[in-house]
Amino acid sequence: MTDPLQTDVLIAGGGPCGLMLANELGRRDIRCLLLDPKPGTAFNPQANATQARTMEHFRRLGFAHTIRALGLPPDHPTDICYLTRFAGTELARLRLPTAAAAPEAIKRMSGSWSAAELPHRVSQKYVEIELRAQAQRLPSVELRYGWQLAAFDDTGSGIDARVQAVAGGDPLRVRAAYLVGADGARSFVRKQLGIAWGGDTGFKRKFMGGKMLAVYLRAPAFYDRNPNERAWMYVVVNPQLRAFIMSVDGVSEFAFHIQMADDAATEALTEADARRLFAQAYGQAIEIEILSMATWLAGHALVATVFQQGRVFLGGDAAHLFTPTGGLGYNTAVEDAVNLGWKLAAVLRGQAGPALLESYALERQPLAVRNTGYARTFADSIGLFEAEPELEDDSAAGVQARALASDYLNGHVRREFNIPGVTFGGRYDGSPVIVGDGSAPPPDSANVYVPSACPGGRAPHAWLADGRSLYDHFNFEWTLLALGPDAPSTEAFRTAAQQLGLDLQVLHLPAPELAALYEAPLALIRPDQIVAWRGSEDSRAPQILAQALGRTAPASTGATDEP
Ligand SMILES: Cc1cc2nc3c(=O)[nH]c(=O)nc-3n(C[C@H](O)[C@H](O)[C@H](O)COP(=O)(O)OP(=O)(O)OC[C@H]3O[C@@H](n4cnc5c(N)ncnc54)[C@H](O)[C@@H]3O)c2cc1C
Repeated sequence: MTDPLQTDVLIAGGGPCGLMLANELGRRDIRCLLLDPKPGTAFNPQANATQARTMEHFRRLGFAHTIRALGLPPDHPTDICYLTRFAGTELARLRLPTAAAAPEAIKRMSGSWSAAELPHRVSQKYVEIELRAQAQRLPSVELRYGWQLAAFDDTGSGIDARVQAVAGGDPLRVRAAYLVGADGARSFVRKQLGIAWGGDTGFKRKFMGGKMLAVYLRAPAFYDRNPNERAWMYVVVNPQLRAFIMSVDGVSEFAFHIQMADDAATEALTEADARRLFAQAYGQAIEIEILSMATWLAGHALVATVFQQGRVFLGGDAAHLFTPTGGLGYNTAVEDAVNLGWKLAAVLRGQAGPALLESYALERQPLAVRNTGYARTFADSIGLFEAEPELEDDSAAGVQARALASDYLNGHVRREFNIPGVTFGGRYDGSPVIVGDGSAPPPDSANVYVPSACPGGRAPHAWLADGRSLYDHFNFEWTLLALGPDAPSTEAFRTAAQQLGLDLQVLHLPAPELAALYEAPLALIRPDQIVAWRGSEDSRAPQILAQALGRTAPASTGATDEP
């Protein structure tokens, strides 16, 4: 029997969650082995919207600009458009900046869009290629495509696993400190642990509730034969059918999804059926080449009842299943990896206690419930809307039906696609590793984000006088912001961090506006850019760092820490 392969973190699954986790760990020199049975990254487009918060995480890792260059050509519109047919009458449109315009546009925005990045419309298949390339450069990361997790045992002191090449051959034994199940909706890891889904499923709607057919296709004439202004996403609303399509490469490749009837025999659908359905949705037959076809079920809002069991964690679709309205499944998966990555590293380095790992579930499970809930609301908003029978008629009743639909859909598109509150407003209130200060967080709202340094939320963003993002000045690990012209001493934090072997950098920023934005002269920022604590003096630095690292029970709220 050969010796087992040794690693620190075994990652089952090379989708966005697993690949992002490999990047977070690899950037910290933590050994990890990632397995995926597929021969490489995803062939199908899958998710199509990278939310602004995900882009900020890509920026933190140094490759947001590379991701923004992927997918559509830089000047391709990223609008979302609702029509009677893809080449029919336009009913509603949300105009959004192109990839070329986004980096400058965000610098002129404020309020809800106080951010380092805007969203980017790019198919997951391209994002995965970049995440894989980035991970491959990191010496402590090993990626094995064509391999899968076949068995595992949590011994209490580690994970003993059996991994198997899809092509066959002898299985290998792997010994790891931790296992992360980032192995998607049908998660082997979740099933092995007997972890049940919570939440709801089986929602029936006219659209985004029930059986869907997905067709990845090439349609070179899509734009030329279409009288409407170009968009990135087109949604068909008419009494006959409901469908949407996203441009994959801005040239000829598209991801087409159409709602099927409940009793449709979707497994028996042929390419001829797909061509017929596409022609109906487009409004006329145009030449298409089918690259792949799959069926899927819309109407989930599911969250695993357990996110951590012993040394095993669940992340991404293995832990939560969305209806894709709002484009939140992949983005929530990425944020799981961000949350778990620095925590695993801190524990493996001996800087943090097991309570830090337990905070993963305490922070991410409520977030998953929140985000699946938002996705469900968006699905209700578009899926329960019914087009009038006269919608496409050339008559006064048709004109009126289109005006009504236009009014509703112009409201809906802003509810579903202008969601700074969802993307920036997720919070970890009540987490034992957040040192609360007794202040109330802003209300949670999908379409409004209120920047707030109330501990537990994303650090408020600002563009600095040097033209750079505040986030670009943050340390990769911990940052202590010392804000305003009269910032207090930070020595106690430096000393406490040194004793813990913690990489903490103090960032002095004298501008009074920043102290006003943070409502405090000191703010401790976690590696995931979440405010862990804020206050006006550093006397409790050892206790604050100990709590933020899960080394002690939460301290009582100190009156001296009130901002
Ligand atoms: C057709 C389709 C369309 C979608 N559209 C959207 C959308 O528009 N917006 C949106 O937000 N989301 C969408 N999604 C969902 C989105 O793609 C997922 O939320 C996202 O991929 C989740 O990432 P993940 O890394 O958690 O899981 P996945 O991307 O599913 O990756 C899991 C990986 O685990 C691997 N795996 C499975 N078993 C094992 C094993 N035993 N050992 C090792 N590896 C294993 C799989 O091969 C897979 O690569 C869509 C999904 C599909 C299938």
